Amino acid sequence: MSIARFWRETPRRYNLGGSKCTSCGTVYFPPRAVCPVCTHHRQSIEKMVPFQLSGEGTVLSFTVVHDAAEGFEMQTPYVLALVKTPEGPVLTGQVVDVRPEEVAIGFKVRATFRKLREEGRAGVIHYGYKFAPSEDSTAAPPLGPAAAGRPAEAVARDRATS
Ligand SMILES: [Zn+2]
Repeated sequence: MSIARFWRETPRRYNLGGSKCTSCGTVYFPPRAVCPVCTHHRQSIEKMVPFQLSGEGTVLSFTVVHDAAEGFEMQTPYVLALVKTPEGPVLTGQVVDVRPEEVAIGFKVRATFRKLREEGRAGVIHYGYKFAPSEDSTAAPPLGPAAAGRPAEAVARDRATS
């Protein structure tokens, strides 16, 4: 599939347009004009192509923020996480739609386009990506010994009632 077609068919809502070096395969987000990995930097300029991240990711590490910066007061406590994407780049972002105590290292998330902050009562609204639990994160960590070898539905049922 051509890059142009890929761009047209990719939902823009995740807004995770990076770049990829077609010489060494490294993906960058935010996008870079040259590849710092390749030895001949200037030659890598023409090797860089737009690359849309899938929006999938895994929590690498996280912190629960209780004292928010100005403009974020309404959202505390919130989870700020380092998210490793399957494409390579590690993103920083807020994890939403989940209780802070449910977030763990290895938690599967998906990028979602959300309001980031609002300046004043009638102020400028900033949008960007945040992370929400991905569909399969309910079956993800931690599956203890009791869950081993059991159907996913039974595990999900147990988790829902506990
Ligand atoms: Zn490269």
